[in-house]
Amino acid sequence: MLPRWSLMALHVANRVACTKVEGPFERYALWVAGCAIRCPGCCNPDLFDKDRGVATPTKALVDEILRAQRQHRVEGLTVVGGEPLDQLPALTELCQRLRRRAPTVGILVFTGYELEQFPDAVSLRSLLAVVDTVVDGPFRAQLKEPPGGRRYLGSTNQRLRHQTARYADPRLWRGPNGAEIHLRNDGSVHACGHPDQVRVALRALRTPAG
Ligand code: SF4
Repeated sequence: MLPRWSLMALHVANRVACTKVEGPFERYALWVAGCAIRCPGCCNPDLFDKDRGVATPTKALVDEILRAQRQHRVEGLTVVGGEPLDQLPALTELCQRLRRRAPTVGILVFTGYELEQFPDAVSLRSLLAVVDTVVDGPFRAQLKEPPGGRRYLGSTNQRLRHQTARYADPRLWRGPNGAEIHLRNDGSVHACGHPDQVRVALRALRTPAG
């Protein structure tokens, strides 16, 4: 149960109302800002700095996720980064709020920490109680998932830590990766999906037609 006075905010760098490339099915995805792990070869170094994000109240994010569920019928939420566990209290509050208001929405979190090594095991348990799956472990460039390897994951050391059966079917994690380019209302562009595919998509976007 959340305290009535709880008004936490998550530092969020990007969000997309509906994507097919950040986990199984169609999902609302948000990228938190700030990462203390800083894996060599990370595809999102621009999100290392927490100041790249905007402090966004968890209640506002849940409202937005529910809007995405109504408008796009998204199956779930993906939280990626940056490092979501570096903002564990606010992340937990977000997931608890979402669970309470929309129990049918799935929750998938990517973290560079290995869960057993996380320094605050007690707080972590509160998060694990309300998420469906955590992908844990740092990105290791020398262990990059080969073509035809697991979908959505960066390197072979990363593990699928299912807390419920929702995403436990291995077939959900097979198949080709993809990329999407989202054009925002302000004219800016946000690319997401597998980094190799994103590079190809952005190159194609810059190539003049004809
Ligand atoms: S934990 Fe994730 S965001 Fe942080 S450096 Fe590693 S791959 Fe990048």
